Amino acid sequence: MEIKQSKFVISNSKVENCPNSTLPEYAFIGRSNVGKSSLINMLTGRKNLAKVSGKPGKTRLINHFLINEKWHLVDLPGYGYAKVSKKEKKVFQKFITDYFKKRKQLVNAFVLIDSRHQPQTIDLEFMQWLGVNVIPFSIIFTKIDKLKPQTLDEKLVHYKSVLMEYWEELMPIFLSSSKDKTGKDEILDYIQNINKS
Ligand code: GDP
Repeated sequence: MEIKQSKFVISNSKVENCPNSTLPEYAFIGRSNVGKSSLINMLTGRKNLAKVSGKPGKTRLINHFLINEKWHLVDLPGYGYAKVSKKEKKVFQKFITDYFKKRKQLVNAFVLIDSRHQPQTIDLEFMQWLGVNVIPFSIIFTKIDKLKPQTLDEKLVHYKSVLMEYWEELMPIFLSSSKDKTGKDEILDYIQNINKS
């Protein structure tokens, strides 16, 4: 699939105010600074659809984009930014968990993980929470251009072995580099195939 048209629809902090539509929805989420905005811009072929910021944790809203008039891409706030107060974290958790629990249109969540990092508790716990709540998800390992191929392979083998401690079966896994435009076709074809079935 190629994204020919992408349009910002609405930002909000309440799942009740998300677009009243039956279109399938695909959400992108991950730790602040994981490369989510860059990935969304790469997928849509737009320079500034999602803002790429040097300041982690700035976007705290649910952002809906209409893609090819056929599905919604949802940019969710980055989690795990240390400089956010406890109170803010609670508010954040509530509206994100609300989104995942209540949004019937959600077909799949893409959990973004920085390919350079060791498995982090916050990501592993978040994925377990998705599993417990029966929310389908896939993993996208980002910024793979930053690693040598052999190091990337080693990191992936290690990450998968940690995942296998929790999961009987591995979820779909994608590799991406927004710098080199890697992973775009695989992710978009995956979405297209689900939409077709
Ligand atoms: P977000 O906070 O998750 O939306 O992350 P951003 O997309 O704003 O990216 C955070 C930083 O990582 C920025 O400095 C980006 O230029 C950089 N970055 C994002 N994706 C990549 C990538 O695939 N390769 C490289 N080398 N840098 C990236």
